[in-house]
Amino acid sequence: MKFDIFSLFPSIFQSYSEISILQKAIEKNLLQISVHNIRDWAFDKHHVTDDTPYGGGGGMVMKAEPIFTAIEDVLGKSPKLPVILMSPQGQPFNTQMAMELAQHPRIAILCGRYEGVDERVLDHLISEQISIGDFVVTGGELPALMVIDAVARFIPGVLGDPDGALDDSFGNGLLEYPHYTKPDNFRGWQVPEVLLSGHHANIDIWRREQSLMRTYFIRPDLLAKANLNKADIAFLTSLEEKEKLGHFQIKKWFGF
Ligand code: SAM
Repeated sequence: MKFDIFSLFPSIFQSYSEISILQKAIEKNLLQISVHNIRDWAFDKHHVTDDTPYGGGGGMVMKAEPIFTAIEDVLGKSPKLPVILMSPQGQPFNTQMAMELAQHPRIAILCGRYEGVDERVLDHLISEQISIGDFVVTGGELPALMVIDAVARFIPGVLGDPDGALDDSFGNGLLEYPHYTKPDNFRGWQVPEVLLSGHHANIDIWRREQSLMRTYFIRPDLLAKANLNKADIAFLTSLEEKEKLGHFQIKKWFGF
C-alpha cells in the first residue's frame, strides 16, 4: 500500500517511519510512504505557498495553486484514489475508518498548516476530510502520521500476529483487557491469579469480563454497537445490578 503525503514539512515523516513496525513494513514492501514537499511546486522567486486571508483577520492561508499543481503532477488530474485532507473539521477518525482505508492500494494525504488551505482545494480536489479529535494542532503532519500508523496495522503481514489489530481496543468494539508481565509480584502487587494458572479457558473468560467491565465504566457508549453474546449481556447485567447496590470500588480505579 502506498501513501502520497503532501506537506510543507516533509522531514517530520522521516524519523517516525524509520523505526519499529512502520520501518519493517516498508522493508517488507508492504508499505510505501512518499512525501512530497508542496514548496517544490511554488514556482515564484521565493517559493511562496501561503498568503493573507481575503476579508482580513490574522494568520495565513495555504495557497491553492501549489497544492493543485503538486497533487496533479504526482497523481494526475481526477485521481482515482482517496485524496484526504487532515482537518479538525473532518470526520472523527476511528478503527472502522482505518480498516476501510487499508483496503485501498494507494491514498493521498494533504497536511494543512497555518489557518488551513484555500477552500477551493476542498471544493475541487479533496475527496474526504479526517480529524484526529476535537482539538486543533499546528499542522496536519502528526495527524497524518497517526492515520498512516493506524491504517498500516490493518495491512496483512504488518503486525506479527495477524489478529493483533483486531484484538486491540476497538477492534472488536470493546476496550482491551489489562496486561501484566514478569515479575508476578512487583512491590507486593500481585498479578491476578488466573493469569498464572495456565487454564486457557478461564483466562479467556477473565479477559473478556475485564474488557466488558472497562468498556462499561470508561466507554459505555461503545457497548451499544459491540457484538455481545448472551454471556456478555448476563455479565453486564450483573455489573449494572452491583453498581446500583453500590458494590463497586472500581470507579475509583478508573479515576472517577
Ligand atoms: N483554522 C483551522 C480551523 O479552525 O479549523 C485550524 C487550522 S490548524 C492550526 C492547521 C492544520 O493542522 C489544519 O489545516 C490541519 O491540516 C491540521 N489539523 C489541526 N488540527 C487537526 C485535527 N484535529 N485533525 C486533523 N488535522 C488537524
